[in-house]
Amino acid sequence: MLRQIVDTLVFNGDVFTGDKAQSHHQPGAIAIKDGVIVALGPEPEVMSMYDARRRIDARGGLVHPGFIDTHLHITAMPYHGTPFSKSLDGAGKRRPDYSRMKAATTAEATSAYAAAAACSLLQRGYTLFFEAGTVFETDAFADSITKCGIRAMVSAPFGWDDLSGFEKSYPHLVNEMLVRRAPVDARRVIEQCKYEIERNKNPEALVQGYVCLYGEGSATDDLTQEAAKLARDSNVIFYQHQSFHPDGVRAEKKNYGDAGAVRLERLGVLGTSTTLAHMNVLDEAEIELILSRKPGIVWCPNAALAFRVISQSKCWLPFLHRNGACISLGVDTIATDPIGISGVLSLYLSASLGDNLEDSDPFYMQTINAARNLGISDKVGSLTVGKRADVVIRELRDITHTSWLDDDGILLALSSSMIPVDTVLIDGKSVMEKGQLISVDQNDIVAEARRQREILLKRVYG
Ligand SMILES: [Zn+2]
Repeated sequence: MLRQIVDTLVFNGDVFTGDKAQSHHQPGAIAIKDGVIVALGPEPEVMSMYDARRRIDARGGLVHPGFIDTHLHITAMPYHGTPFSKSLDGAGKRRPDYSRMKAATTAEATSAYAAAAACSLLQRGYTLFFEAGTVFETDAFADSITKCGIRAMVSAPFGWDDLSGFEKSYPHLVNEMLVRRAPVDARRVIEQCKYEIERNKNPEALVQGYVCLYGEGSATDDLTQEAAKLARDSNVIFYQHQSFHPDGVRAEKKNYGDAGAVRLERLGVLGTSTTLAHMNVLDEAEIELILSRKPGIVWCPNAALAFRVISQSKCWLPFLHRNGACISLGVDTIATDPIGISGVLSLYLSASLGDNLEDSDPFYMQTINAARNLGISDKVGSLTVGKRADVVIRELRDITHTSWLDDDGILLALSSSMIPVDTVLIDGKSVMEKGQLISVDQNDIVAEARRQREILLKRVYG
């Protein structure tokens, strides 16, 4: 039989598909044409039917769908280790803090930080990330991301129209400079969301828009309903931070009668096209609503631990996961935590609660669940025929990087993002080879992000 010619064949892979119906092929192969997966399965089967102009030998390494981080603020990218809010050094002089720096970006800085984020993510096997509503210069962001060849989703920055409760519960997240740039104004927020959704007119674009409010009680009922309607009408998700800390939940209840899932249900916006980040502080009525309405939930276990929320409020997320809620993972503010840490932390946190996840759960939370929570599971999130070919091949030079008897165990190792990445394909195109980005120089990117950081520092602190 004549073999069909495709663009690319990945073969000799230890392929984990992310599709639970046919999860593992070893050795497995993937055939790719026009950026789309046209076949995958056991290698002999695929190779007997397809040949390709380009053949990529995975050399027995782990192959998986690109990971997706569903909550990340790139404005924090270059400020690793920086205090979150105002602090003083030993001599009583004010130290630079993330909260002021994030308000001071320029197009050049955003472009540099976006490229730096793309680099870090690709090196850890992520092919898509979700900017959670904190970028001002979204066009510079989209241009930079597209140049690097990674996917991202972006929305209006700081979508809020009522800071009366929010700035009391989260004073470290607001400052004068930020509010000047992101006015507390529903019209501004809706217009900016509409602007970002326009990107979706080109379904091939690597950067897509969605509807985002900042959340945590910083939007009125009217804005919340209008934003959710815009999302429904535009076929994108409605997303916000929700119930991060007990103080925020109390303030939202005081201002609006209810907080969290109960308030969103009252407003008629709790459903599968709504995704909520954090959900650390929940009561029983909310648990029931989440299990019946099935909104997406983004868990940032590192943020919950770092801000000591866990000691104040029972973490329900492992329970919700076991009972059918769709939970994905995000690293949130990477000023404190490295990309990739949320997978392992979700397991250890759940174990410490006596409510263990399966070792493989973080893998699915960062692939298929993540795609579902972003409203794009028809396109990405698993290696499935008909989906875009976003494929990661890991290095194989360490015995702990090989699967043997226990699929769950190796998926845990994968989810920890500790296994170095060799090759990344996005839309079937090589973005990374031998651990190096192809279209851009990683050293230049890091140097430029460092340069922009110094420029901003001078502007803010003189
Ligand atoms: Zn966040």
